[in-house]
Amino acid sequence: MHELGIAQAALQHVLAQAERAGAARVGRIVLRIGELSGVDPDSLRFAFEAILPTSAAADAQLEIEAITAVARCRSCNLEYSPGPTALFECPHCRALGADILHGRELDLVRIDFT
Ligand SMILES: [Zn+2]
Repeated sequence: MHELGIAQAALQHVLAQAERAGAARVGRIVLRIGELSGVDPDSLRFAFEAILPTSAAADAQLEIEAITAVARCRSCNLEYSPGPTALFECPHCRALGADILHGRELDLVRIDFT
């Protein structure tokens, strides 16, 4: 499962940060996941909840911010939400091809220590 590897990598990062900060506990972990990142937020949450209890961050609350994809048409510059698709067709001029402005995020944006 793809998401399990991501959860493990993120958790390792969190624990390394906690150690560096000399924190006793991790209170909250905030992840930002774009619609086009290829990661399913529910699967990632499930994976996290499977590995958290046996880690040093057992009490941590996980928050996932889902980011809606936004693309900009290369023909008419319209910004639109393509949804979780690889096909970017402008709803205004029907041109294919767009620049992705948001949606590829896969970031650990915040860790709160207690
Ligand atoms: Zn267009």
